[in-house]
Amino acid sequence: MKHNLLEICYLIGSVTFIIGLKMMGNAKTARNGNLIGAVGMTIAILGTIFLHDGGVSGLIYGLILGAIALGTIIGWMTAKKVQMTKMPELVSIFNGMGGACAALISIIELNHFYHAMHNPASGVIIMVATPSSMYGMMIAIIAGLIIGSISFSGSIIAFLKLNGTMNQPIRLPSYNIINTIVMTGVFAFGGYIVYSGGSMMLAYSLFASALIYGVLFTIPIGGADMPVVISLLNSFTGLAAAFGGFLYDNKVMLTGGILVGSAGTLLTLVMCKAMNRPLSNVIFGAFGGGASAAGGPEVSGSIKDIQVSDLAVQMNYSKKVVIVPGYGLAVAQAQHIIKELENILEERGVEVKYAIHPVAGRMPGHMNVLLAESNVSYDKLVEMEDINPEFEQTDVVLVVGANDVVNPAAKTDPSSPIYGMPILDVDKAKSIVVNKRSMNAGYAGIDNLLFYDPKCSMFFGDAKKALTELVAELKTME
Ligand code: NDP
Repeated sequence: MKHNLLEICYLIGSVTFIIGLKMMGNAKTARNGNLIGAVGMTIAILGTIFLHDGGVSGLIYGLILGAIALGTIIGWMTAKKVQMTKMPELVSIFNGMGGACAALISIIELNHFYHAMHNPASGVIIMVATPSSMYGMMIAIIAGLIIGSISFSGSIIAFLKLNGTMNQPIRLPSYNIINTIVMTGVFAFGGYIVYSGGSMMLAYSLFASALIYGVLFTIPIGGADMPVVISLLNSFTGLAAAFGGFLYDNKVMLTGGILVGSAGTLLTLVMCKAMNRPLSNVIFGAFGGGASAAGGPEVSGSIKDIQVSDLAVQMNYSKKVVIVPGYGLAVAQAQHIIKELENILEERGVEVKYAIHPVAGRMPGHMNVLLAESNVSYDKLVEMEDINPEFEQTDVVLVVGANDVVNPAAKTDPSSPIYGMPILDVDKAKSIVVNKRSMNAGYAGIDNLLFYDPKCSMFFGDAKKALTELVAELKTME
């Protein structure tokens, strides 16, 4: 009876994960989708604690519930306080915790396994004529240990890179050869442990070497390539959790792990496409120049700036305006004022659209989430491939706090660290206006020749303040 109830809890958990994930595909239903997934997870966790077979002492229940309470408080407070621009860091650290859990589960289960298999009299592990199920179990344990550890240490490095503590990629000489050798070595070592039965000492050594590989894998990667790495690490954690599901024959863990693993893999592929990086390069550590690498185009020419009154006139008499939101819009929290700008322009008969680059901001979907906060209609957010052909018919492109995603060096300068990344073709518009505070570079740390384009004017200032002035100016023009 208890067992059947537990299976029902797992079924509910699995179904809610799938429904929740589906709902997260749309900004309007995403919040509820998240909630449904969380309810399913709660049911699965409570079911596991209270409906599992075998007795557990009150002390163990106390420890489990205490740990859950502590984790909930820390997680809740951190997620509540975090700024939208810091979300990728939070995702990295949460992802790292998932990887660490998978690795620790493997270590604990290996310990149980050795206790069960150990012959105390001889001190020899009984692995003679090992049944295939035992190999299956060892593979699940070792795979969870390796992948979880890589995901943990890799995510910690990604976190340090994203929060600026490690802002330069560290490249050992021939780092991609070293990385490939270390990776092969780690998996071969894991294979040896599965084959030979291994020991706790070997398992700890494997844990340490997988942690080292996670660090080696992530340190050479440049800042602008981080989105790919984060989603890849995310898929690793999902995979590690799925191995845990195999191990315990736990359906909800398996489903959750597979969903995270496949969603992360799909996102990785989408990001690779967006940044024009083949996945093999990501896996074998052969990333291109990287974001913070020195370089970029030789800058010459002059820039011109535009006064708010001139910009207001230009926009007021346009037929079509495309807004390109970027990281600076998020930092300035200018999403509400930009919506006000959209409303005013539309009242005056101007068609307004938003051009969404897949890696604008600091996390996948950053701009969609930000603009949804201020009730910008989802239909107005146009993806890069769809908006690019429209720039030629656009009177004014207003770039707000974006830089790398409109940098023509990605198309024209093979020496640029972002060469090959598809960009928004704003230079095709009749007029380009860029709002930012200074001539400072964006995330990739390189200059942007767009600002020197004769069609381009700079509208300097903090996005929120500058757009507030623009809206006020437009209001005086009724
Ligand atoms: P960028 O980081 O290239 O540029 C942002 C620009 O915003 C800066 O040049 C800055 O210039 C300006 N800015 C900063 N604060 C303000 C403010 N208060 N008001 C107005 N402007 C401001 O942003 P993009 O969105 O164009 O590109 C995203 C970059 O981030 C890409 O390189 C991408 O690879 C990377 N990335 C993306 C992730 C993702 O998943 N989306 C994750 C991690 C990295 P100034 O200082 O002069 O104001």
